[in-house]
Amino acid sequence: MKSALPEDTHPPKGAERLDHFMARAAAAYYAARDPFQDFTTSPEISQAFGECLGLWAAVTWQAMGRPNPILLVECGPGRGSLMADALRAIAEMMPDFRAALRVHLVETSPLLREAQAAKLSAAAVTWHEDVAALPEVPMILLANEFLDALPIRQFIRRGASWCERFVMHGAFIELPSDVGWNHDAPEGAVREVNEPAQHFAAWLGARLARHGGAALLIDYGPAESAFGDSLQAMRAGQPVEPLSAAGEVDITAHVDFAAFAAAARAAGAITHGPLPQGVFLQRLGFMTRAAMLARLDPARAQAQLAAAHRLTAPEAMGRLFKALALCDASLPLPAGFETS
Ligand code: SAH
Repeated sequence: MKSALPEDTHPPKGAERLDHFMARAAAAYYAARDPFQDFTTSPEISQAFGECLGLWAAVTWQAMGRPNPILLVECGPGRGSLMADALRAIAEMMPDFRAALRVHLVETSPLLREAQAAKLSAAAVTWHEDVAALPEVPMILLANEFLDALPIRQFIRRGASWCERFVMHGAFIELPSDVGWNHDAPEGAVREVNEPAQHFAAWLGARLARHGGAALLIDYGPAESAFGDSLQAMRAGQPVEPLSAAGEVDITAHVDFAAFAAAARAAGAITHGPLPQGVFLQRLGFMTRAAMLARLDPARAQAQLAAAHRLTAPEAMGRLFKALALCDASLPLPAGFETS
């Protein structure tokens, strides 16, 4: 994307491009705090989430022709709950896959790496700062609420052109930009661009095409690219002003699934979805598993069923959250992505 400031425009002292601000805020936040005090995620709400994703990976491994070894990668694994639940389900249902897989985690936060090491102490785990360091063998990659944490740029329609939003003294300022989009956008429309997500999609698409495998990305955002300011922040479970307390609040943005999928396809992968999370999980047998967990532990039955409802109901996380699959061209339709 051509998006430098016009040559005669210099940001005022103290002004920071939004993605630079967000990257700095996110690094400080994840390095120093337990983010789960501020928000919760699907693997923390129900163990059936990680179990279903683990079985999705197992079925995908079968479809790949059971390569050995294979990497089971997770990006942004948080407390390690998704991987722990996935590995338990895999060991029970498909021990051959458990024996063939190598767990690789991509995580930048030292604090969260400690939590992951404690949760996954029974497994051999390799950590990486960046996906580029992953060994060059077939892989299945999982990521839940990883893309939403990557920093975005925001452009705003002013007259016949676009300005870019910078942060200064905790508020937005706008500087002229020379992005050449000729969208028919109304005055004041905001367009977001997630450059790290685009690079990640291109890397992933090429990597899957080269060595084989699949990826499952679950996050929240619209199915089609849309205008709008989706920057948001959470503190102690409550929405707060995103520019106010950099490093002390969790800042995220909606994921542009259409742009992500297009970048992955351009690099050689096949994409499926995005599908609403509720539909995807139900197709994987999530409700059956949740009902079984409720029966096994009557004291927590109500909580189990409430958690299952929260993840699948359209008015809760079932519709805004979406699942997107990326596959190498040799793979059949992945589980849960049947069109009918
Ligand atoms: N997937 C987990 C956690 C989501 S929070 C869950 O569903 O509970 C976002 C996670 O991404 C955290 O583990 C955070 O430390 C990690 N993260 C954020 N930016 C990252 C980056 N650039 N590279 C690697 N990990 C990152």
